[in-house]
Amino acid sequence: MPQIICPTCHQTFASEKTSAMPFCSVRCQRIDLGRWLNEEQGLPCEPEDIDEDEGIQEYSTN
Ligand SMILES: [Zn+2]
Repeated sequence: MPQIICPTCHQTFASEKTSAMPFCSVRCQRIDLGRWLNEEQGLPCEPEDIDEDEGIQEYSTN
């Protein structure tokens, strides 16, 4: 029978023993999903804090 490695707990398990493929259990599926959602929400929102004062040098083309 096919042995699958659970992405969450890294245990090998039989594919026919779970309905939460590719995880060994619904618990591991939820853990992975939660981790995934946390990463999505944890994206750093970049503050618009662009420093444009420096770098601009006044010079005349005359
Ligand atoms: Zn697992």
